[in-house]
Amino acid sequence: MERLNVPGPKAKQIVAEDSQYISHSYPRAYPFVMDHGKGTEVWDVDGNRFLDFAAGIAVTGTGHSHPAVVKAIKEQADKFLHISSDFYHPIWVELAKKLDSIAPFDEEAVSFMTNSGTESVEAAIKLARFHTGRTQFLGFLGAFHGRTLGSLSFTASKTVYRHGFYPLMNGVVHAPYPDPYRPILKSREDESYGETVVRYIEEELLGKIIAPEDLAAVLIEPIQGEGGYIVPAEGFFPALRKLCDKYGALLIADEVQSGMGRTGKWWAIEHFGVVPDIIITAKGIASGVPLGAIIAKKSVMTWPRGAHGNTYGGNPLASAAALATIDLIEKQYLKNAQEMGYYMIGALEEIKSSHKSIGDVRGIGLMLGVDFVEDQNSRKPDITTRDKVERLGFEHGLISMGCGKSTIRFAPPLSISKPEIDEGLKIFDYAVGLAEKE
Ligand code: PLP
Repeated sequence: MERLNVPGPKAKQIVAEDSQYISHSYPRAYPFVMDHGKGTEVWDVDGNRFLDFAAGIAVTGTGHSHPAVVKAIKEQADKFLHISSDFYHPIWVELAKKLDSIAPFDEEAVSFMTNSGTESVEAAIKLARFHTGRTQFLGFLGAFHGRTLGSLSFTASKTVYRHGFYPLMNGVVHAPYPDPYRPILKSREDESYGETVVRYIEEELLGKIIAPEDLAAVLIEPIQGEGGYIVPAEGFFPALRKLCDKYGALLIADEVQSGMGRTGKWWAIEHFGVVPDIIITAKGIASGVPLGAIIAKKSVMTWPRGAHGNTYGGNPLASAAALATIDLIEKQYLKNAQEMGYYMIGALEEIKSSHKSIGDVRGIGLMLGVDFVEDQNSRKPDITTRDKVERLGFEHGLISMGCGKSTIRFAPPLSISKPEIDEGLKIFDYAVGLAEKE
């Protein structure tokens, strides 16, 4: 397989200038310098073509620059770019109605619009405090909810996110995420691992740290993203929902990465048979135009006029992009994510069978992770091989991203086709083989 000349001369120059003028805090793994994209394909500034299996961290669900999304943005741009959330406009309302129609609640949904994932998490924290009149929260180890001080108090996937930034928001205690591949609690014989984690929460955390009557909400990613594309253990969500109901706490699903159809359902939590009280979304909602939202049960979004707001909430360009995005997902890509996800996990399982370094293949729909291990019995994370695979993939035309300690995540556009999956996974398979030899 041919190795690309990356980074090429133009890419090298831009990376050098970037390093001079842009904050070094951005976590770049390799020097992909984008020129343009179409669907699943992207080209760098030197003319190299890649398959994009990361979609800008699960953002461009409809593929790069889908013509229907671009058209909606252009038409809106000709009308007006901004008016502020202190006024009204029709497509913002249209978007909120659409979100109500895709929310999983058994009552009406009300939305608050933001500009990013972290801003949505902040809004959810504030709403939970306001609505319950309580102050304490439960989060999970390995979680990623953002980098502003409230959301960062829940983020617990890497110390680099926190080092140097204390003090954070008070009142967050972390439980183990119910990881069935690397469980850190011991199960009793009469319970599933998911139930074990919830028992631990109730007996240890609510028994010894947080008084249940102080617990405002549990904030959780239905499939953990940045933490390693981890699908929660059997029995977890029903037990967690029961626990929240028992103590009058809200269940908040952070679907920033797992939502908007990525798993073949609108929201990943729908796979686990429970209904949350608040959904947090961003990333895939507007195909790359910055937009986030919290979608809450009407009975929960009880804050009054002036309690929360922002300048850009419901921004017309973002609303237009979101409406076009949701329409495409509804009509075509939800089904495609299901079908292609099924196809892709099968192909990844097959690749796993010929590589000792792959310990686990997991995920739902087009949110798939491949976990590299030093040996299959100990399941010890093999960070070096994962990093090599990521780099070698790039050098041969595949854009992928790491997550967790030793996982490669695949979050391609929901519009991806079988031939594109075949082409990308051929590169991946080759890269794993090279990494194992290196
Ligand atoms: N929540 C989850 C689950 C995420 O994956 C992310 C970003 O990766 C965020 C929140 C934060 O989103 P943003 O980077 O838009 O602030």
